[in-house]
Amino acid sequence: MAKVIYPGTFDPVTNGHIDIVNRAVELFDEVIVTVAKNPSKTSLFTVEERVEMLRESLKEFKSVHIDWFDGLVVDHAKQVGAIGIIRGLRAVSDFEYEFQMALMNRKLAGDITTILLMPHARYTYLNSTIVRNLAQFHGDVSEFVPPIVLKKLKEKFKY
Ligand code: ADP
Repeated sequence: MAKVIYPGTFDPVTNGHIDIVNRAVELFDEVIVTVAKNPSKTSLFTVEERVEMLRESLKEFKSVHIDWFDGLVVDHAKQVGAIGIIRGLRAVSDFEYEFQMALMNRKLAGDITTILLMPHARYTYLNSTIVRNLAQFHGDVSEFVPPIVLKKLKEKFKY
């Protein structure tokens, strides 16, 4: 029973994140998508809202569960019995950060493996920051996010 976690800020979840989940479910028995409660990062949505949007967007995946955590990713991985950490790699710009994190996490917990998955090329320029910035000025983000996120963004920015 191979279980992995897919940690992130998910502020909010985008179709790029969902592409990575799609790939992870093909490889592992259970994927726990887990929201980081990072107090040093100001977020648009609360942890509860981010969890709710993930639940709704990923409800058709029977082997996917949604969780949240506070603290070290490797501690959370161990707590839930995961063998690995899934991360997405869009471009060379992601590489250095992801590589550093992967090596540090390996140092902290040698038995937890980081798995980097590449999304479809159409998502390589997509991130949550761009979505938030576009939505803030009422730009059309409908092709980048699931319907529940579109609804929440419209409520948040009143358009
Ligand atoms: P974090 O703040 O931990 O980077 P994010 O929610 O921004 O959290 O991203 C979580 C993971 O998903 C990261 O590994 C990131 O590289 C990946 N990711 C984000 N957007 C995309 C995308 N469009 N395509 C593929 N992977 C992505």
